[in-house]
Amino acid sequence: MIRVEKLNKSFGDLHVLKDIDLTVNEKDVLCLIGASGSGKSTLLRCLNFLEIKDDGVIIFEGDQIEPKTHNLNEVRQKVGMVFQHFNLFPHKTVLENVTEAPLMVKKTNKATAVKEGKALLEKVGLGDKYHVYPSKLSGGQKQRVAIARALAMKPDIMLFDEPTSALDPELVGEVLETMKDLAKEGMTMIIVTHEMGFAKEVADYTIYMHEGRIVERGESKAFFEHPKEERTKEFLSKVL
Ligand code: ADP
Ligand code: MG
Repeated sequence: MIRVEKLNKSFGDLHVLKDIDLTVNEKDVLCLIGASGSGKSTLLRCLNFLEIKDDGVIIFEGDQIEPKTHNLNEVRQKVGMVFQHFNLFPHKTVLENVTEAPLMVKKTNKATAVKEGKALLEKVGLGDKYHVYPSKLSGGQKQRVAIARALAMKPDIMLFDEPTSALDPELVGEVLETMKDLAKEGMTMIIVTHEMGFAKEVADYTIYMHEGRIVERGESKAFFEHPKEERTKEFLSKVL
């Protein structure tokens, strides 16, 4: 689904992503871990074309995507993204948040958008909340709305950037459960997370990044039980 070769990205003098190679197959669930500042968010943003790479290749569903030759807005529609801060529209109801992009961007007809939106809210366990405003929801509920909103565009892949980092501890579980359900349904996902238990249990592969490089990638169970690289061992010894 995605292949990245020798991806590099700098902000001014700061070389943030260094020769990133990455393959994501359909239905893969990948967790991306690493210290703050190691480039995880920038990598996700490059994959969603919110940031434009300096050089390297990004192949998405067989097409090499370049800003000059592709309509990036069209590509972005196939890539759902969920952020640490949910960024819901405060003046719209939960259902309006979910139907906004299908109505405005995809020009889906209203009845269809509403029907699909309600089904998605049902799926994330918020079927009874469609008419309320985000301020009435807990952080975990808001994040589940944000997931439903991303799914409403029927993306081929979902990117999550620390989706539970802003939540009170007791609300983390419900969001991880929702993501686990998505994984079970075969959604292709890349998840930046500090939830090592979730990575080990749910992700097919875990990737450790350090200072802009991928240090190690492995099948999650083996990755956590028998990391190969010294740097990975050191990182895991601090966070586990
Ligand atoms: P992570 O998500 O792993 O914490 P980031 O990808 O957010 O790391 O950031 C990697 C580095 O790039 C950090 O040093 C950060 O300050 C810097 N950075 C990220 N975005 C920008 C930007 N838009 N402009 C300048 N520097 C940035
Ligand atoms: Mg980040």
